Amino acid sequence: MIDIQQATEIVLSRVRSFGTEQLPLAECSGRVLRQDIRADRDFPPYTQVRMDGIAIQWAAYEAGQRAFPVEGTQAAGSPQQRLQNPEACLEVMTGAVLPEGTDTVIRYEDVDIRDGQAQLLPEAKVKARQNAHLQGLDRQEGSLIVKAGAVLSPAEIGVAATVGLPTLSVAKMPSAVIVSTGDELVEVHEQPAPHQIRSSNSYTIQMALARWGVKADRLHIDDELEATKRELGRCIEQYDIILLSGGVSKGKFDYVPEALEALGVQKHFHKVKQRPGKPFWFGDVEGKCTVFALPGNPVSSFMCTQRYVHPWLRQCLGLSPMPYARAVLTEDFHFRADLTYFLQVKTRYDEQTGQLLARPVEGKGSGDLANLVDADAFLELPRGKEAFAKGEVFPLLFYR
Ligand code: AMP
Ligand code: MG
Repeated sequence: MIDIQQATEIVLSRVRSFGTEQLPLAECSGRVLRQDIRADRDFPPYTQVRMDGIAIQWAAYEAGQRAFPVEGTQAAGSPQQRLQNPEACLEVMTGAVLPEGTDTVIRYEDVDIRDGQAQLLPEAKVKARQNAHLQGLDRQEGSLIVKAGAVLSPAEIGVAATVGLPTLSVAKMPSAVIVSTGDELVEVHEQPAPHQIRSSNSYTIQMALARWGVKADRLHIDDELEATKRELGRCIEQYDIILLSGGVSKGKFDYVPEALEALGVQKHFHKVKQRPGKPFWFGDVEGKCTVFALPGNPVSSFMCTQRYVHPWLRQCLGLSPMPYARAVLTEDFHFRADLTYFLQVKTRYDEQTGQLLARPVEGKGSGDLANLVDADAFLELPRGKEAFAKGEVFPLLFYR
């Protein structure tokens, strides 16, 4: 059996690209950019008025002039005007082109305009070229503003809009299907018989993927070898990722590994030295379909989705690994098995030190999905150690 480091390495060595697509700006949030975004013009593209007020020539002010006849108004959105008399002024509005022949803007708060004359108030402080934002000051035409590979947030999308890109080339997200297995499972809207339960994994995993931008379908397969082969065969043709839950352990009706191998999915590992999630099976059809066959227990499949599927997805999209958080264990904890233990914890910041503290909220095992509501992260306690002392620091896997 391999350990979690080996499992991680294998998973991350099986990354692939899903291609690119062109999307309207409003659909680009969270996507990975596959083109550079350059300034199509100077930023700002013309010397811009930054305050509502009057525009004058600094030389006139410097020469001692404090009253300026108003020649007219330069509004935002109208072509540049020209100051005819260098000792006069034009009223100007924020966002307007600075009129030709002016270089300094004095805000309305500092002037008194009466009978076509703008009189500076005695307390007005005026500096040369104030409130005039020079053309090209922020960025020059042609300069690189957002590099390919960036994750698009509102900031980047605003830049794309300003340079006139109604669509962007972004990394395509994989198509995915979440497959639940098990004869004991019924759909959420169904009333389970006493010996049945509702399938929750389908939703937990689907929603985890949704948070990472992957839209996934849901499918259920009964514990029956032929049906498992038939349905999975179809999924391999149709999807980039298959995320199974259940049917990978030693049970008499656990047909998933057998079916996958019969379908030509290359197995890269089965079983990892970890709890929960030991029976995790991973394989792929090179360049076509990647299969994460996760154990059925809700905490196991959820943990494996966070711990393995998410980093794999990021790497496929060309993103750097999420920096691993670390947290301080707040209580002594014992775990004897020779497995990496993903302890459910509730975190909070220590107000004095700013350290992240992880309080064990262990739960009643890997079937206890209600406990995931009380916790917010898994603390990764390394294998080969039994006693974990209060105050020790361990890697932390947030899921909120
Ligand atoms: P298995 O890995 O198929 O042996 O399943 C392990 C445990 O997880 C069993 O108790 C199953 O009932 C449960 N389980 C399997 N799939 C799901 C699911 N989709 N939703 C909730 N529980 C599940
Ligand atoms: Mg099962």
